[in-house]
Amino acid sequence: TLHRRLRHAALRADMVVLRSQIERARHAYYDAVDTQSPVSDAQYDRWYRALEDLEARYPDLVLAQSPTRTVGGEAATEAFSPVTHRERMYSLQDVFSLEEVEEWAQRMTADLGVEDAQLTMTAEVKIDGVAVTLTYEHGVLTRAATRGDGVTGEDVTANVRTIATVPQRLTTTGAPPRVVEVRGEIYLPVEAFTEVNRRRMEENTAREARNAALQAQPQGSRRKEALLPLFANPRNAAAGSLRQKDPAVTAERPLAFIAHGVGAIELAEGAPLPDSQHEWYSLLTEWGLPVSPYNALVHGRTEREDYIARYADHRHDLLHEIDGIVFKVDSRSQQARLGHTSRVPRWASAYKYPPEEVRTRLLDIDVQV
Ligand code: NAD
Repeated sequence: TLHRRLRHAALRADMVVLRSQIERARHAYYDAVDTQSPVSDAQYDRWYRALEDLEARYPDLVLAQSPTRTVGGEAATEAFSPVTHRERMYSLQDVFSLEEVEEWAQRMTADLGVEDAQLTMTAEVKIDGVAVTLTYEHGVLTRAATRGDGVTGEDVTANVRTIATVPQRLTTTGAPPRVVEVRGEIYLPVEAFTEVNRRRMEENTAREARNAALQAQPQGSRRKEALLPLFANPRNAAAGSLRQKDPAVTAERPLAFIAHGVGAIELAEGAPLPDSQHEWYSLLTEWGLPVSPYNALVHGRTEREDYIARYADHRHDLLHEIDGIVFKVDSRSQQARLGHTSRVPRWASAYKYPPEEVRTRLLDIDVQV
């Protein structure tokens, strides 16, 4: 009918606007070097959720390239050459309430045909950093890349080599794996973030003094020095530090790494493949890779909610910033049965904490995070 066609046209227009707002925010967010997205995460999440809702109600209006079906990030940029991941990198499905965590858990138990109390999950904090993959060949770090669009990322090997907690060589007892892609997060510890901004403020004070001295002189040829922008948060600082053209600049920022998954794997002949997520974490630890000290195993709703509550209370006492909690079905064979969408694994769910008004210790201004 005409009414239906008009309504669809209006909805399609709404979706075009939402998609372009999301794409623009993604561009600013993932490709930032020393800038930041003008859009808060909470605002981004609202747009994203609105688009997901519209697409769920009107599946015939969904585009294949919708941001709800793609992993955000640039595949190739001028500064870094492209790297194609051996195995695709995924994002996580965000949920925003305890009820939605339970809906997800119910889908898992129904699909797997098991009782909730019998289904082992890992509970992990969601590190607010930059997703990367490290490739080790015969135990030696040969490549580090950003997630990019999930298929292709940027080659940041030289910069990642400056990170102290990333081993150049795996410490295996037997033969090292032929190939392993280690997935994880590069982050700036909260203390280091404060220090980087403190140094920038010091430098700005020096620049302001030089600029003032310059102003007192007759018009010379020297130009005023621009002031350095301060980083809005540790994630923004980590992203900017990782994506420097000069690895010496990256080396000055004490970035750190935490592994939270694996991609392509070819173990040495005869080596047993871990059959759960938590056994993978043990193996990665054995190899000398940092794994989160906050990881736990949980069963059932109460344990999931206790874990969420524990880190809601201690969110700011950790080594790094977190923006939520991730639950993963622990068994690798169950993970394989559940599979992935084009964007996310079905076997994981990321609960996002509600946005909070924070007063940053350093800047003494209110910012929305
Ligand atoms: P995401 O950051 O919400 O989650 C996916 C990522 O979480 C994974 O790629 C992984 O690297 C990381 N992660 C951290 N801890 C993990 C753990 N323990 N296990 C597994 N993975 C873990 O998803 P995304 O698609 O990268 O980005 C979406 C989010 O980024 C938005 O919800 C928003 O908060 C933010 N964003 C903000 C803007 C903006 O303009 N403000 C723009 C784009 C994205």
